[in-house]
Amino acid sequence: MARAAEQPGPLRLSTPLAEVRALRPAWADALARLGVFTVADLVKHLPMRYERLEAEAPIRDLAPGSIVTARGEVSATRVRPGGRRPRFEAALLDHTGRLDLVWFNQTYLKDRILPGMRLRVQGQARRFGPHGGWLQIVNPKWEALDEDREAAVQGARIRPVYPASEAMNSARVEQAVSRVLDAALPQIEDHLSDEFRRAKDLPALAEAYRMAHRPASEEEAAAAHRRLAYDELLLLQLGVFLRRAQVRRTMRAEPLRWSEQIDRHIRARFPFALTRAQDRVVGEVVADLTRDEPANRLIQGDVGSGKTVIALYAMLLAAASGHQAALMAPTELLAEQHFLSIGEALRGADVRIELLTGALGRAERESALARIAAGEADLVIGTHALLTGDVKFRSLAVVVIDEQHRFGVHQRATLRGKAADAAAGDARALVPHTLVMTATPIPRTLALTLLGDLDVSTIDELPPGRTPIATRVVGPDKSPEVYGFVRQRLDAGDQAYIVVPAIDTGASAAGAGGDEDLADLRSVMARLEAHELSGRRLAALHGRLSARTRDHVMHRFRAGLIDALVATTVIEVGVDVPNATVMVIEHADMFGLAQLHQLRGRVGRGGKRSVCVLIAEPKTPDAELRLAAMAATTDGFALAEKDLEIRGPGEVFGQKQAGAPPFRVADLMRDRDLLVMARRDAAAWIERSPELRGPGEDLLRKRLLKLHGRWLGLGDVG
Ligand code: ADP
Ligand code: MG
Repeated sequence: MARAAEQPGPLRLSTPLAEVRALRPAWADALARLGVFTVADLVKHLPMRYERLEAEAPIRDLAPGSIVTARGEVSATRVRPGGRRPRFEAALLDHTGRLDLVWFNQTYLKDRILPGMRLRVQGQARRFGPHGGWLQIVNPKWEALDEDREAAVQGARIRPVYPASEAMNSARVEQAVSRVLDAALPQIEDHLSDEFRRAKDLPALAEAYRMAHRPASEEEAAAAHRRLAYDELLLLQLGVFLRRAQVRRTMRAEPLRWSEQIDRHIRARFPFALTRAQDRVVGEVVADLTRDEPANRLIQGDVGSGKTVIALYAMLLAAASGHQAALMAPTELLAEQHFLSIGEALRGADVRIELLTGALGRAERESALARIAAGEADLVIGTHALLTGDVKFRSLAVVVIDEQHRFGVHQRATLRGKAADAAAGDARALVPHTLVMTATPIPRTLALTLLGDLDVSTIDELPPGRTPIATRVVGPDKSPEVYGFVRQRLDAGDQAYIVVPAIDTGASAAGAGGDEDLADLRSVMARLEAHELSGRRLAALHGRLSARTRDHVMHRFRAGLIDALVATTVIEVGVDVPNATVMVIEHADMFGLAQLHQLRGRVGRGGKRSVCVLIAEPKTPDAELRLAAMAATTDGFALAEKDLEIRGPGEVFGQKQAGAPPFRVADLMRDRDLLVMARRDAAAWIERSPELRGPGEDLLRKRLLKLHGRWLGLGDVG
């Protein structure tokens, strides 16, 4: 590969490392494989942690019993086979004395530590042998000193430990950094003003990078982390608030009418009194919907906490103001269930509801679309079929998206676009209020960052009269007892779910190929029919069945004509059959924690005590942790925190969920304080400067858009 031997002009932040003369070409290659290509990349390649390097001392002065650092020349080495614990020994000399080094079980060191080499070693010194003995270190940390590392460590030193590779170990990375850092630092411009930084007690950006790479003390390393992590959080939060301000400037929604009379009318439709938590959330939603600023609210509540009535309340409020509302569910099954239960609640009312799913025939669909466009349908319930271009509303004021974890930010935006165009005399586009509902509780910290463009309401209370679900984890050998218990329950008139992992290909009925995905379901079904549950009325439910068949099966299950459903995760969300009191999950170790919790939420919906049995043979520590967590609690929030702990935020709500880029520096668990501070500061900042176009804000805006512009849809602000 052609490589410029001379770097053209002075070192710039944008200079490729391959052109940096002070770096060996092999290093540049190795760094490239770590994703580090330019000088700027290298400066941003931060240490993962730091090690304390004790002050070096002449060998004569090393104090036995303490951790010491020394350097010298290797005078001799040998391997002593010594039975169970072979060892490698080296003698290290400086001008004051001799230090013996001993490594047990590391005889390969004989090829790496050679007489004549200069080493720096660290470890606990001790006296060994008769007559005061020799000074010795057992299993010292060591490094070979080449010409670059000869400078003696004066005082105790904090040494950075970098993300590294075999070809480019941490010490090499440190050397590479040190060769560009002095030239790079003066070129780093700060996007925060001196004044702002002083008020927050934060170091300048260049200084923070210096302290991260070359901390003079632990305090400096901490100060560097504080600045860089804060920066990252601040930029994200600024992006989120910028987006909000932009929405406020460019969009408006219908402010809905609310009165005590309307409220009474709506509540009269519910067969129960709302729980305190539901009442509070209704209040929050009403406050949103009666403003002309588009609502964008996440309603989170554990499975069974009663989110549907909140959705219904919001939709009825739209209808009461003469507008339309749409409810989008992730599956046809769920859309149909909502359609039925809402239809039930609205029996006799003059509110017209419409179901729009992919299962409708052409003619049915045409006439449904016509009613929606003419405003003859008040509430429209459907699946993603609502998103297609030919769905036109006359006056869509409220959109509710159920089980949001199945939908992306993008789909929310599409539905939003379905309101009429800007009203005359107002430059702002008219969009519907949006509520999204999820039973996958999002830990507060994550909600603040990743779903920052949403307000959050939480239903943290279950309706009264629920008995907690008992959860057991058992091995496959206990299967006979488990199904014995299921038989008892079925004989008592209860119903059961048997869940089997299979790849759920979604709502489509396209059955071509991939039959093996359902092999498990089929074999379990056959086994149960022949043995454990013979004579019982069983039915299979999975994503490959046509919507009509699934609907039929669910209908029969709800009507009590089927004793046990043998199902894949299609029953995961929302399905509500109070008489189903037993769930058995086969191969439970193959499901994620959130999924298990969702599945379990299908039982425990009536007054009777429900049981969930997880049959599993966990093969990984993570799987074991998941199952233990399931057995320990039924609290969805606790489980979500646990999930976060087991998998880390990147996995739980990574790019898939919200599109936010992962953090390089900040740690959401550890840096909660910084997050709260960054959020507050960002809110105040955008309040002051809603477009981030004030004096001295250019650089900040530019960096923010580069990082977050795309996923936040801020492109047009640039
Ligand atoms: P979610 O969607 O949050 O999982 P649902 O809205 O399906 O929960 O409600 C679960 C069950 O609880 C439903 O049968 C519903 O009728 C019932 N329910 C909801 N709110 C109440 C309440 N305040 N009192 C009694 N039952 C309620
Ligand atoms: Mg629901």
